[in-house]
Amino acid sequence: MDDCLFCRISAGTIPSTMVLETEAVVAFRDIAPEAPTHVLVVPRAHHVDVSAVAAASPTLLAEMIDVAQRVADAECGGQFRLVFNVGEMAGQTIPHAHAHVLGGAPMGRVLP
Ligand code: 5GP
Ligand code: ZN
Repeated sequence: MDDCLFCRISAGTIPSTMVLETEAVVAFRDIAPEAPTHVLVVPRAHHVDVSAVAAASPTLLAEMIDVAQRVADAECGGQFRLVFNVGEMAGQTIPHAHAHVLGGAPMGRVLP
């Protein structure tokens, strides 16, 4: 999709700081990091959100999580928070599936 930011970043037509690439998935640094490690894990194929990825290809979703683990292994001792926002109400601003890999600092619990 020519007008999709993350399609263009994953294709390399918009620059980013890549940290890991596979045939199906890219991982690059978030432009506005909220933790010492804040990397976005993105499928190259356009899916609107993580639920669409899961419906289309559980294998691709598993690969996204494997890439997240590999990023965390390299940067923050293998420990990380993985965040998928689904929908505007949940804070999703880019309608192309992505996982936020957050790590490198202690994090409070999100749930009670
Ligand atoms: P969302 O809010 O959709 O869950 O996450 C989108 C993320 O993309 C945000 O954390 C935002 O900082 C990041 N972002 C937005 N535009 C760009 C960009 O052009 N390059 C990079 N590397 N990250 C971006
Ligand atoms: Zn896209």
